Amino acid sequence: MKKIPYGKQDISELDVEAVAAILRSDWLTTGPSVAEFEQIVADFTGASEGVAVSSGTAALHCAMYAIGIESGDEVIVPAMTFAATANAVVFQGGTPVFADVDGDTLLIDPKHVESLVSSRTKAIIAVDYAGQACDYHSLQKIADQHGIILVSDGCHSLGGDYHGLKVGSLAEITIFSFHPVKPITTGEGGMAVTNNKEYASRMRIFRSHGITSDFREREEKGSWYYEMVDLGFNYRITDFQCALGISQMKRLADFLSRRQEIAAIYAKAFSTDKVISPLRLVEGVGHAWHLYVVRLLGHPSLRRDVFKEMREAGIGVNVHYIPVHLHPFYRHRFNYDPGLCPVAEQVYQQILSLPMWPGMSNADVDRVISVLTNIVEQQVKVKSV
Ligand SMILES: *Cc1c(COP(=O)(O)O)cnc(C)c1O
Repeated sequence: MKKIPYGKQDISELDVEAVAAILRSDWLTTGPSVAEFEQIVADFTGASEGVAVSSGTAALHCAMYAIGIESGDEVIVPAMTFAATANAVVFQGGTPVFADVDGDTLLIDPKHVESLVSSRTKAIIAVDYAGQACDYHSLQKIADQHGIILVSDGCHSLGGDYHGLKVGSLAEITIFSFHPVKPITTGEGGMAVTNNKEYASRMRIFRSHGITSDFREREEKGSWYYEMVDLGFNYRITDFQCALGISQMKRLADFLSRRQEIAAIYAKAFSTDKVISPLRLVEGVGHAWHLYVVRLLGHPSLRRDVFKEMREAGIGVNVHYIPVHLHPFYRHRFNYDPGLCPVAEQVYQQILSLPMWPGMSNADVDRVISVLTNIVEQQVKVKSV
């Protein structure tokens, strides 16, 4: 039986041709495909500016730089996210303060966020876990009341929406990842979108060594002169990656509708299951279905054993995520201890991400469902004796 991974890119012949065309052109990096890709993603999300970079993590770092995070600043981030969300705060010398999540959606809990705001709080990073937008109304209210900046980590939610507004126009800056398992891919890659021209300009300088012009701009002006105005990085993305991104954006609507179909098949299969419990869907939110996460209710060791048996059966389940504050780095550097975010810590023991990617056939989805329900049934029997 072939293995079914939990996530996988979908590359068409047109995608391949788009990349090949750039490889045959004059510009492999800092060329015209970068700005074109930025414009397409910005337009799609309803933002005015896009800044394409080498990864989602680089985009988060650019965002933290743009809003001026520095030593002594606190940024509230959810405990239930990929480590990079919090790491970007630390890159700039700031302190990530971990907010707990709602146990049924795994989205950041605005009430807990509010209780964590201090005189040092500069920003909140909302994470649209699994592809479902957070409670941006409540988060924006908190941000406005306290004069702090709302940033969105939309790595899961490109193409999603919230009360009619696209992800990308719900926060001051929204960042995306184009890693192969994400909604669209450029291999590695990321982007920050914003309506704030000042932030966009700061991010463009930061992604290229803190230098105020790029090679192509200087070539066009016939000038060698440039100024490095701040310490930056080389976070540039190549033109052939952007060509892949442009081609993938044409396919995003199809990817999304296939992800929705798969989610609907899973939801139907588990609708009456007492143990396999999908996350709650929030009204008014268009889910981008990056992940399909279920909670396994019952014996504390159930998830561990089901995970092992699913992998043995060739089904690539995964766990998203280990609460970030529990990682050794965060425990040592910031003295965070278990118990800081009890909901995230408890739900972490139950969650399992099932395969979810647009190229899955209905037969693949059915196989995941029947193997999972069988393994869970057997395990529940074993554990109840
Ligand atoms: C994937 C991901 C990132 C990092 O993106 P990369 O492109 O892998 O650097 C950050 N935050 C979240 C929530 C992610 O899922």
